[in-house]
Amino acid sequence: MTTTFSLVVVAAGQGSRMGEATAKQFLLLGGRPLWLWSAVIAQRLFAAGAIHEGVFVVPAGCEAEAEAALRPFSFPWTVTAGGAERSRSVLQGLRAATGDFVLVHDGARPFLTEALCRRVVAAASEERGVVPLLPLSDALKRIDEAGEPTPCPREGVGLTQTPQCFHRLELEKALSTFGAGVKDEAEAWHAAGGKLTAVEGDRCNMKITWPEDLTFARSLAQKSFRTGMGYDVHPLVPGRKLLLGGVLIPGFPLGVLGHSDGDAMVHALCDALLGASGLGDIGTLYPASCPGHKDRDSLFFLEDTARSVQALGWTMEWADGVLIAQEPRLAPYVSVMLSAMDGALPPSWRGKMNLKVKSGEGEGNVGQCCSVVSHMVVTLSAPAWLSGEDF
Ligand code: MG
Repeated sequence: MTTTFSLVVVAAGQGSRMGEATAKQFLLLGGRPLWLWSAVIAQRLFAAGAIHEGVFVVPAGCEAEAEAALRPFSFPWTVTAGGAERSRSVLQGLRAATGDFVLVHDGARPFLTEALCRRVVAAASEERGVVPLLPLSDALKRIDEAGEPTPCPREGVGLTQTPQCFHRLELEKALSTFGAGVKDEAEAWHAAGGKLTAVEGDRCNMKITWPEDLTFARSLAQKSFRTGMGYDVHPLVPGRKLLLGGVLIPGFPLGVLGHSDGDAMVHALCDALLGASGLGDIGTLYPASCPGHKDRDSLFFLEDTARSVQALGWTMEWADGVLIAQEPRLAPYVSVMLSAMDGALPPSWRGKMNLKVKSGEGEGNVGQCCSVVSHMVVTLSAPAWLSGEDF
């Protein structure tokens, strides 16, 4: 049987050292709360078969907010309320998890990478817990009882990060007995007599603890950009509806022919989004051979495409399009088309689209009223730390 792994993201703390009213894991970085960046990595790990679910432990009362934020993600996820101290929160997460092993990750470490998770997973064993460690670069001083700093050797000492990986049921036992006051899960595991294996940590995988950490993290979250283009053409024939930009245009004898509803404008927008995110094209994702797509409302494709693109960490910065038709005159429909397409996009992407309609000027198939054509260009952005890794 395949060994299964659950990513348990612990985001239930109160973060009192940040000096903010909002718990630190809910502060924004690159437009998303800190903890939600772990979901972007979970999406990628799930797609690659490295984990089979994500469990998100949040403060009691924040479950609905967390569930709403996770809705765009297609990996199996669960939200559960945490407890008063870290070990109680992790225990809640373990009870909601189903994997043989758990990767317990701190929700205040937004710079998690797939590569680090893979190192941790590769070292997993029933007998040993796995911890990412980093060597220290600063000299150490111990403050003695009189308050005097005295030199302290740093050799053989490492900084511990997350995710830490353990056999789920064994960790549950260890935390139930030895969890009180621990700084991380490895402390409870060790107190229960378990051994640990170290893997190389990641210097960028910093924990946001102090206000300066967030300032530093935001400076790392510079955006990188990708542009995608989309093009589509559909024949105009009698006996079909004229659907363009998600809007039914009434009173015209011809309509768009296609396997779905034939909305060339929405198809071009989907392809531009897929192109910019490197996800392929609409024909591959929603093939005409699939009977479920026959006469399908193209706004379904747009909503599903945007959800997939957003789950990879991308945000739409802007979309610009052209719709070319000889007849009917489409200018009166531009604002309603924009609203219809906006409605299929995530709320934070709305109001970022421009649309031009043009006549075919009597030229070619479009000019003869035999077809309609659309071109779309989309710019997406993602924090540079994500786009540098896999995009
Ligand atoms: Mg099409």
